Amino acid sequence: MPKHKFLLEEKDIPRKWYNLAADLPSPMQPPLAPDGSPLNPAMLERIFPGNIIEQEISTQRWIDIPEEILEILTLWRPAPLRRALALEKYLKTPARIYYKDESTSPAGSHKPNTAVAQAWYNKKFGIKRLTTETGAGQWGSALAFACNLIGLQCRVYMVRISFDQKPMRKTMMQTWGAECIASPSTHTHAGREVLKAMPHTPGSLGIAISEAVEDALSDKSNKSRYSLGSVLNHVLLHQTIIGLEAKKQLKLAKEKKPDVVIGCVGGGSNFAGVAFPFVCDKIHGEKIQIIPVEPTACPTLTKGPFAYDFGDIAGLTPLLPMYTLGHKFVPEPIHAGGLRYHGMAPLVSQAAVEGLISPRAYDQVKCYESAVIWAKTEGTIPAPETSHAIACAIDEAKKAKAEGKQKVILFCYSGHGLMDLAGYDKFLTGKLSAYHLPGHKIQDSLCALKKFPAAKKIKTGRW
Ligand SMILES: *Cc1c(COP(=O)(O)O)cnc(C)c1O
Repeated sequence: MPKHKFLLEEKDIPRKWYNLAADLPSPMQPPLAPDGSPLNPAMLERIFPGNIIEQEISTQRWIDIPEEILEILTLWRPAPLRRALALEKYLKTPARIYYKDESTSPAGSHKPNTAVAQAWYNKKFGIKRLTTETGAGQWGSALAFACNLIGLQCRVYMVRISFDQKPMRKTMMQTWGAECIASPSTHTHAGREVLKAMPHTPGSLGIAISEAVEDALSDKSNKSRYSLGSVLNHVLLHQTIIGLEAKKQLKLAKEKKPDVVIGCVGGGSNFAGVAFPFVCDKIHGEKIQIIPVEPTACPTLTKGPFAYDFGDIAGLTPLLPMYTLGHKFVPEPIHAGGLRYHGMAPLVSQAAVEGLISPRAYDQVKCYESAVIWAKTEGTIPAPETSHAIACAIDEAKKAKAEGKQKVILFCYSGHGLMDLAGYDKFLTGKLSAYHLPGHKIQDSLCALKKFPAAKKIKTGRW
């Protein structure tokens, strides 16, 4: 009988994170101050603690995971690698489909992997309180969980639409002792300005980031910092434990390597987590197709330009070189809240510029259809974000069938959908339609980028 689960012992948990910045054939372009001048580190030090900034700019290939962080991670890690045997059978595909199950964490997604690390480094640095934003609520609950264990206060600005649609995520945060506020809010200048202009806005991750950063900066005691759940280098670094474990587990499954690696992308962290250790193999000659999947409603990698842009709508973050739809872009309220971000992680963006990864966009109807096939075969109900990766895995498995190839497909099952059933209800009652972002909407929001320095698209092709 073929095996379903490939499990590692706690002692086999990876002891180091992998930093792709060490191996990218083309150099990363530096973050810039809003006026285009080189970044003054003092600006970052008010937002993030020094030890995190060190990681953010590091080009060291392997970075030790502190023992105390490992101790907390082993609450649920190593996470299982599972084989989707029932789905394979349903598709009648010769492909072998493996998925890294990140839904088994206390908060139900991959996000606690970095939340625990960030809370730990902040505490170590003497910080007492973290602020953050959350889209679908997963990041807020992950940070609330981590801050509670590590002993930090936590305030979460939650995007209005999710706050209304997913009140149970708020309750999770409160259970772990955090404060959760709907964004835009009246707590910050940025929030009040947006509310004045658009009183009924569904909110966006960009707006919520502005509020959380402003909140941290305005703490007179200088003991508050901001924490980001995706996009930045250190976040992607912390998530590489996913792919590093998966590599060991594929060995247990007697697979030499995956032929296809897939992750859904919002800011890029779960994708980077599962994929970067394999991007490293690809740089060193392995043949692997690596696919980030985004929604057609927020097509950053597939339709946006590579440009310098702010990470947030108010322009409080540095300018980052990335694929972007423009920081003023407010996506339609599709249910995959965690994928409604205007930008993309600079490391993922640079890997795309190099051609190491091949982005794709899927609409939400196709994704929910795939999610339902998944639930009826594999049994679990995936997060709407995760359904983008599932849709792609199904397409690739069908392609393998058409080609008669025994491909090995690996994807990241980034989270469960048990807090997202309102979206399923809309789908099941026929209230969702496929939304494709019209070209003119992208052009409008990109106008704001004209005043920024141009980002160089450097492709060496040396891999
Ligand atoms: C937040 C989230 C995502 C998207 O964020 P990334 O940083 O791109 O990984 C995807 N899936 C789930 C379940 C999430 O919670």
